[in-house]
Amino acid sequence: MRQAAIFLVMIILVSVGIPAVFVMYHGKYQKPLSEDIELMKVYITKEDKVVEMTKGQYLREVVSAEMPASFEQEALKAQAVAARSYLYSRMYSHKKSGTPPEHKGAQICTDPSHCKAWISESERKELWGADADKNWDKIDIAVKDTSGEMIYFGDEIISAVFFSTSSGRTENSKDVWGGERAYLVSVESPGEENAPNFKSEKTLSVDELKRVISDNIEGVDFSNGVFGEIVRSDAGGIITITLGNVPVKGTLFRTMFGLKSTNVNISVKDNIVYFDVTGYGHGVGMSQYGANAMARRGSTYKEILTHYYQGTVVK
Ligand SMILES: [Zn+2]
Repeated sequence: MRQAAIFLVMIILVSVGIPAVFVMYHGKYQKPLSEDIELMKVYITKEDKVVEMTKGQYLREVVSAEMPASFEQEALKAQAVAARSYLYSRMYSHKKSGTPPEHKGAQICTDPSHCKAWISESERKELWGADADKNWDKIDIAVKDTSGEMIYFGDEIISAVFFSTSSGRTENSKDVWGGERAYLVSVESPGEENAPNFKSEKTLSVDELKRVISDNIEGVDFSNGVFGEIVRSDAGGIITITLGNVPVKGTLFRTMFGLKSTNVNISVKDNIVYFDVTGYGHGVGMSQYGANAMARRGSTYKEILTHYYQGTVVK
């Protein structure tokens, strides 16, 4: 009787216990954990505190801060994959060089000028009001349906930069920042004409204009006029513009006058300067309104991403 009991226990151990240990071993230690289990540290800049959350939650909150939830589902998925690519490329670079001191030990921060825009789920839902649940569902699907996917150029996760609205074409990264990246090249981006910031303008007097330029460029001389040679990219953005006797970069010109992009047409009439601006943002990588227009025409998020990041693969 006793031997039979021992035998039974042995059988149970072999048939249940060993497979259970095996599954646990493989489930817990070998397979990569899903984004909704894996934790990360985020430095909430405006509250000056480090918070632990799952990577999935962080990505949902980033996507909800970066792109309007009213956008097409495929555009939101493209944004989710871009945000994930950014997060992981950032984490890999920290593995090599350590986290930056601004992050107080966290992998990423919520200062959009340093890392990525971010808004907490509760804050976001409050701003959405009646649409909160419907909108959050779209964000949730965008992250879940693309789980683990990132954008690669060769073996490397790309720098998935993006911006709001193009002029109809995106910019080459070398024309805007000087650094050449094979996947950040100018491509067509049609269908953005109805975006809220597709066109904008700014006017100021010639005297005001000269004052702003003098405040930014020491010793500038206007004896040969205010505007000199303008060098433009294929997309129409200003690469360099000569102000007085000094050539400056289009990006500096843009910030000097607080313009929405470097794609500016300049005219002067009766001592008034008119800046007619097309597009919104730096113009490099994925245009968000362009992504939405592609999604409306039936493109998938992978088609959107491989269009704006040329020569890349989503996997
Ligand atoms: Zn940061």
